[in-house]
Amino acid sequence: MSDNMKDKKFATKAIHLGRVPEDGTGSVTTPIYPSSTYRMDFPGDDSGYVYSRWSNPTRQALENTLAELENGKHAYFFSSGLAAVTAILHLLRPGDHVVAVSDLYGGTHRLFENLMRNFQISFSYVEGTDPDDFEKAIKDNTKLLWIETPTNPLLKLINIKAASAIAKKHGIITAVDNTFATPYIQRPLELGADIVHHSATKYLGGHCDVVAGAVVTRDDQLAEKLRFNQYAVGATAGPFDSWLVLRGIKTLAIRMERHSANALKVVEFLKTVDLVEKIYFPGFDGKPLQNEMSLPGGMISFTIKADLDTVKKFVMATEVFVLAESLGGVESLINHPALMTHSSIPKEIREEHGVTDGLVRLSVGIEDPGDLIADLKQAFESIR
Ligand SMILES: *Cc1c(COP(=O)(O)O)cnc(C)c1O
Repeated sequence: MSDNMKDKKFATKAIHLGRVPEDGTGSVTTPIYPSSTYRMDFPGDDSGYVYSRWSNPTRQALENTLAELENGKHAYFFSSGLAAVTAILHLLRPGDHVVAVSDLYGGTHRLFENLMRNFQISFSYVEGTDPDDFEKAIKDNTKLLWIETPTNPLLKLINIKAASAIAKKHGIITAVDNTFATPYIQRPLELGADIVHHSATKYLGGHCDVVAGAVVTRDDQLAEKLRFNQYAVGATAGPFDSWLVLRGIKTLAIRMERHSANALKVVEFLKTVDLVEKIYFPGFDGKPLQNEMSLPGGMISFTIKADLDTVKKFVMATEVFVLAESLGGVESLINHPALMTHSSIPKEIREEHGVTDGLVRLSVGIEDPGDLIADLKQAFESIR
């Protein structure tokens, strides 16, 4: 990074950090370098780029930007969020134990239970809204504390500072999935976490047009291992996907402001609807955002007082909100967790965690808020 960017604010950095000057043409944006391999000056010359699985100029421009935006030191970019998760899990060895929050992204839960268990890694799940939950679940062989906050889909808040302090006391690494908040709203490394990771498919990319993931740390030793895992396993992101996320990040600050402002307006509307039973939204229960998030973000979950068929009818009745999985794009999406994103979790476990048949999750986009509210209003009318 050029020194003159060091003291600039987030929105400026997000736009300028990833600009790698290209002398030949004076290109203002970083080019996409598709080359898989790079010319050497002599056999074994590894002073520059060598092979794209190891490093690529477009991907590197993005990795440098992400490291800085998360206030970390090293960042690695992957072909999906779950590839990033896997690189972290590969820090573990057979016999190790992980304490994780229970309201977890479905795909992460599947990877833990259906794959990592085969390698003698064990997992305990705790609610985590009380930091004591973590303390109680830690065993002698616990090596990793796994936090997602806000959680998905119930948007509960975990206190990163308190949780990572507990982990540190026991010599345990804390990893935080920062997909929902993004570094614009919450920076876990500043709060004591060792690793922060993302599904860049969501807000970092921001346009529902790329699948990718990222891992960031300040710790040099962890970085060396994560970099080895990235290179040795090979789930790196390609140059075009890296470039899309580099472009997406330029508007991250303004998008997160608008996602949050729109979501607040939608929540105000939902409060007036008699068919709505419960609303889940960061800070909604009156508790402050624990000073860890600067804005609530764009995700809202709520329950509808109706049977499954009626709720299904509701999620199919919106026109601006698109019925689709995923989140974090400029376009608003509507999701039925029990039938969609969280269908792989057994019904009893799901319901025990509050993912009931009446639950609906919104990813509020950056469209005109009046249009979004009118759309939800007509969908509610359609089920009366
Ligand atoms: C989507 C998501 C993931 C997985 O990322 P992919 O890019 O789909 O592999 C992990 N964590 C959270 C919170 C997510 O929303």
